[in-house]
Amino acid sequence: MIPFNKPYLTGREFTYIQEAVQAAQLAGNGRFTRRCQEWLERRLGVKRVLLTQSCTAALEMAALLADVQPGDEVIMPSFTFVSTANAFVLRGARPVFVDIRPDTLNLDERLIEAAITPRTRAIVPVHYAGIACNMEPILDIARRHDLLVIEDAAQALGSTWHARPLGTFGHMAVLSFHETKNVISGEGGALILNDDRFIERAEILWEKGTNRTRFFRGEISKYTWVDLGSSYLPSEMTAAFLLAQLEHADAITDGRRALWRTYDRQCAALPFVRRPVVPEGCTPNAHLFYVLLPREADRAEALATLNARGINAVFHYVPLHSAPAGQRFGRAATSMDVTDDCSSRLIRLPLWMGMSSDMPVTVVSALQDVLAALPR
Ligand SMILES: *Cc1c(COP(=O)(O)O)cnc(C)c1O
Repeated sequence: MIPFNKPYLTGREFTYIQEAVQAAQLAGNGRFTRRCQEWLERRLGVKRVLLTQSCTAALEMAALLADVQPGDEVIMPSFTFVSTANAFVLRGARPVFVDIRPDTLNLDERLIEAAITPRTRAIVPVHYAGIACNMEPILDIARRHDLLVIEDAAQALGSTWHARPLGTFGHMAVLSFHETKNVISGEGGALILNDDRFIERAEILWEKGTNRTRFFRGEISKYTWVDLGSSYLPSEMTAAFLLAQLEHADAITDGRRALWRTYDRQCAALPFVRRPVVPEGCTPNAHLFYVLLPREADRAEALATLNARGINAVFHYVPLHSAPAGQRFGRAATSMDVTDDCSSRLIRLPLWMGMSSDMPVTVVSALQDVLAALPR
């Protein structure tokens, strides 16, 4: 059996959780939370990072900070996880879907400008598979139209674009530490604040609408309710687990890159299968490995056969513009031909730290058998 995902443990998680428990400080915004935030701030070279309970929570904070109002529009790909859209729908805003590029499966920056209306407030590029969006044109369009850029870097911790970490380009960015990502805490995420003007309000939203973070820093003598907010911060036990993972982030990324390269080499020999395209200037974090099969009709059978052989391959995403809630809350601003085509032919292969180096070879050889047996 080769499972699709298996959470990797570095060995320090329990030590740090024990430390948190012994320190008898279990709520959020404590020592481990600060150490994780400082690790991320140093690594990314950014001013402020706030840990959250999930990337979904970080996206909801970003939507609040962007101050989107009912009827406002937010440009994003349809080929993404639902939270990218839901965070804005919760504020009454409308996701406006733009098609993806056929090479990276990322937002097609050439189609963005035509989708802008007087109600557009933000662009949300998603770095799919940890592979970078073409950020310069996106930032340029945003500047010219006075729009915010919120990077969905859920899959992208450890990836760079022209040597700069993903998550440092937009006004804000979000990360995920969900069990299926590279660096994990079960559920978990972070909000990256690259624009100083959002920092103070972000700290308030994070702490239930109070100025408790400033109180903790000794800047004010008591804390009180000053704005909207919710409880977005994770507990210290989650942060303790995460710190162990962050301290191993480089080893985890290197390990995944070695497996990714084996997949890439093995798949290069398969006729008709399209491998991930890494644009010049991008160093990805090997978050996931996918292939595009020749035809939509091949996929169900390919997945069934692989699973019958003990290889747990999966597919994603059901494009948001075609989902019931996507049709109710969103709008496609362009043709969705590339999104529909690629999402119908894509399969994800198992990739996790701790996988033996011969497993990708086994998986691809099974895939080769499956493809050879399909009618042409
Ligand atoms: C995983 C993921 C999310 C959501 O992350 P959670 O931490 O599970 O909330 C959002 N966007 C993208 C692109 C993701 O891959």
